[in-house]
Amino acid sequence: MAKRKKIKNNSLLQILAGIVILGIITFIGGNLDSDLLDSLQKEIETDSLENVQNEENATTYNSNNIQVDGNLIVDFIDVGQGDSILIRQGEHAMLIDGGTSECKDDLLSFLASEGVQKFDYIIGTHPHEDHIGSLDDVVYTYDFDTFLFPKVTTTTKTFENLVSAVSSKGKKFTTPLSGTEYSLGEATFKILAPSSDSYQSLNNYSIVIKLTYGNNSFMFTGDAESLSETEILNSFDDISADVLKLGHHGSTTSTSMKFLNAVSPRYAVVSVGKDNSYNHPTKTTMDKIENLGIPLYRTDEQGTIECISNGEDITFNVEPGSYSYMGD
Ligand SMILES: [Zn+2]
Repeated sequence: MAKRKKIKNNSLLQILAGIVILGIITFIGGNLDSDLLDSLQKEIETDSLENVQNEENATTYNSNNIQVDGNLIVDFIDVGQGDSILIRQGEHAMLIDGGTSECKDDLLSFLASEGVQKFDYIIGTHPHEDHIGSLDDVVYTYDFDTFLFPKVTTTTKTFENLVSAVSSKGKKFTTPLSGTEYSLGEATFKILAPSSDSYQSLNNYSIVIKLTYGNNSFMFTGDAESLSETEILNSFDDISADVLKLGHHGSTTSTSMKFLNAVSPRYAVVSVGKDNSYNHPTKTTMDKIENLGIPLYRTDEQGTIECISNGEDITFNVEPGSYSYMGD
């Protein structure tokens, strides 16, 4: 209010000055005009500051109510027999696995076509070739902040290539601890596995995460087998998720009934190659999914599957696939 009064007084002065001397009028008037402008400008700035503060309060309020502004985009990339999942939220991007070395060109051209600039996170779930085969090329092509990898090494050329690529960027693997939470824009993800120091099967070293965006959630399992699933069941109270990426390409080793019931997914996705030599997915797993009436999306039938969450609803760019299987 004080500011407004001042503006009024200035205007009166301006009129009086105009009556006295015509020569000075321009000079004084000009100065007062610029004073006026300054005052107005300051008021506008104060108003916008108040608006910004109000918006900030609103954002805090929203995040407490698990409401989000924007979309989470999840692409289950068709890399043949293997896994590769691109997750984006706003400007933030994460890649879980990078398929085999043969899928390199397809993977890199997909990432380029989606306009990926850099990654906040790259996750190599475990050292098998169908998960890390092309990650060295991804690392040479894109900058990244954090590379999450389980605490396990192998002597394969594929693994060595990946280690060389990561160190060429002056980076190291970060070993995630079970229970740790990370953020990806407005999404968050929690590490559910691995939780033991050593396993017999390399698959059980798989980094398993539950990603939450608003009221939607996704479970990405790598090739974790039922032993790891049991550890997850014993360590976490709420492992429910709207979308479950089936472990180990729908193999019988994974998706135990107890785990599936606890996750209780509305949708399931399997990343699997057409006519693969591993006989994935299996009848055992497909029967479980079909009997529960869970729509199944599969890269061998639908190609790359894009799934979008607005924090409340999840939509897919394709219709669900079949429950057909190769092995028992
Ligand atoms: Zn695999």
